[in-house]
Amino acid sequence: MSKPFVVPASARSWVPVTADSHFPIQNLPFGLAAPKGRSASVVVAIGDQCLDLTVLGEAGLLSEEDFPILDSFIELDREALYALREVVFGLLLEDNRTLRDNKKLCERALFPQNHARLQVPIPPPSFVDFYSGIHHASNVGKMFRPDQPPLLPNYRHLPVAYNGRASSVVRSGTPIVRPKGQQLLPGAESPVFEPTRELDFELELGVYVSHGQEMGKRITCSGAEDHLLGLVLVNDWSARDVQRWEYQPLGPFLAKSFATTVSPWIVTLDALSLFRVEGCVQDPPVLPHLRRHGSQHFDIVLEVWLQTSKAKRPQLISTSNTSHLYWSPSQQLAHMTSNGCPVEFGDLYASGTISGPEKGQEGSLLELTVRGKEPLTIAETSETRTFLEDGDTLTLTGYCQGEGYRVGFGQCLGQVSPAV
Ligand code: MN
Repeated sequence: MSKPFVVPASARSWVPVTADSHFPIQNLPFGLAAPKGRSASVVVAIGDQCLDLTVLGEAGLLSEEDFPILDSFIELDREALYALREVVFGLLLEDNRTLRDNKKLCERALFPQNHARLQVPIPPPSFVDFYSGIHHASNVGKMFRPDQPPLLPNYRHLPVAYNGRASSVVRSGTPIVRPKGQQLLPGAESPVFEPTRELDFELELGVYVSHGQEMGKRITCSGAEDHLLGLVLVNDWSARDVQRWEYQPLGPFLAKSFATTVSPWIVTLDALSLFRVEGCVQDPPVLPHLRRHGSQHFDIVLEVWLQTSKAKRPQLISTSNTSHLYWSPSQQLAHMTSNGCPVEFGDLYASGTISGPEKGQEGSLLELTVRGKEPLTIAETSETRTFLEDGDTLTLTGYCQGEGYRVGFGQCLGQVSPAV
């Protein structure tokens, strides 16, 4: 793997960036945005602005050879994208006058993020959801199988996962229509087909694949990061009552595939390189093909905010950290291809719900409210919640805390609308 390009903590941009911004010059994540009246373009986040790379390309500030088409990520493999980030860094650095002093070009190249329609950065050809949050897995195990050990025998030997539906991956801000589905109501003998009563969120980390791998070959755990483009946040919306009825024996299906929200910015592994951590000890030792090499986990603070339609402000309902994952993104990709299954550019896989070990660190309402038995109270309005209600807005956010700056992911947001 090439040496990461790490922006020094002291570096500043001529674009104003507040101390709590997720997008200082140390981050420079990539997104896809369509400013008013223009077609979609690859953009970089800086402060509260989007920097339009198509405009920079047209102005001759990016070499045409290296960065030919910037209306999607399709031509950009990891090397090209990471090299592009270095070029953008140079242009944004406070004493570089090339772009800074070209007012006309700045007016076209920079536009506020809240005026931009940020898209799913790459519509994924496939989507896999793992189950690598060990505290989530054991919380759920205790609730649903109280007489047995909380973790199933395979849990510490392989990263459990299922194949999800890429077609239901949506941009942050997309309304989440309460799905209907089959449920077996308490005490009933036969199921009904009704709107879910147990709409939930799942706090997850998503990983985009850059370099694919052809069928029959596998990606090693030590080389897996060469295949990764970067990370996003994922909300794996879940209908618990539907899930309970449908999941045996083949796993979740319709309880998950009505919507999965991704955050708009692909944060590069280079931007995260100062925030690497070892992760928890894996005991018993895993088989050689899944063994971790070096620090393949990340210290990303995660937050969950809930705002009801009556409230004026969102309330922080949970704080967690990606370092609680039992299996790293590299281990997940190594496992995913260990049978020779091919992967391709843009494939997305998510970590599984990331809960911490303490109260207040749960990554789903199922856990936060102990299956609906201990409702949450919204302090501002005194409302209570077991699961999500129509009009509720659920926001995931996450960041790494550097010295005087934050490398963040922005928001992964969805508002619940009534069933149709
Ligand atoms: Mn999930």
